[in-house]
Amino acid sequence: MIKNLKNIACIALVALAISSCSKTKDAPAAQEPAAKKDKVFNYITSLGFPSSSIVDLGTEYMVEGDISFPKDMEVPTTDGSPKLEQYYTGTLVSPANAAAIRVFADATMTSMNAEIASAVAQWNGVAGSALRFRIVTSAPYDIRITDVNLGNGVCGSGTFPSGGLAGNLIRINKAYIAPNSFAQRARTICHELGHNISFRHTNWAAIGESSAINVPGVPGTDAASLMNGGQCGSGATVLSAKDKAAVAALY
Ligand SMILES: [Zn+2]
Repeated sequence: MIKNLKNIACIALVALAISSCSKTKDAPAAQEPAAKKDKVFNYITSLGFPSSSIVDLGTEYMVEGDISFPKDMEVPTTDGSPKLEQYYTGTLVSPANAAAIRVFADATMTSMNAEIASAVAQWNGVAGSALRFRIVTSAPYDIRITDVNLGNGVCGSGTFPSGGLAGNLIRINKAYIAPNSFAQRARTICHELGHNISFRHTNWAAIGESSAINVPGVPGTDAASLMNGGQCGSGATVLSAKDKAAVAALY
């Protein structure tokens, strides 16, 4: 209302041929996120995540509610990475590291050791894949799982690999998922582990991303995929045939 009055006043003044009505005066400070853009931000957009899906949390960017990009992460160079078409980031855990990815649940997560063991067993049980998670009870480790209050609607968050290493952090919204079934709680762990070894959301297109890289030989959507996003507490609880084919293709 005030704005309208202001506009009317402005038009009136223009009518009086007074040229002091500055258009820029009403325009809010430029909304462009350009000033915020850094190489991590640019990397995220290069993966096909729209700028609007990227939330700046200070020391990290959070995308689609459950994928964390630490601002100090090592940004992969695009040179030489294959543009292939289930979906991943194009940046993998190195074969040597993927053969034994050490998973550590800190003290906040020991109450979910059974769910973690179940999730690890799913990935480790994929025929034709050399990828193995190994649960460790002390440092050193590659992935730390910790309990963090992520608010309503978010089960957990994962981190993509960089520098040949698995993403180093998984946050689980333990209190929020506590009412879920055991299978759904284990799914959350399994899903975030998938991000930490490079899997993106299989349903990326449906949830607004512009592009993702197809796992070679495993293209397209998959309603049964455990890596579908936005299905906190309701999604698939076992790796689908295509999920398995995808991990076998990559690792
Ligand atoms: Zn996810």
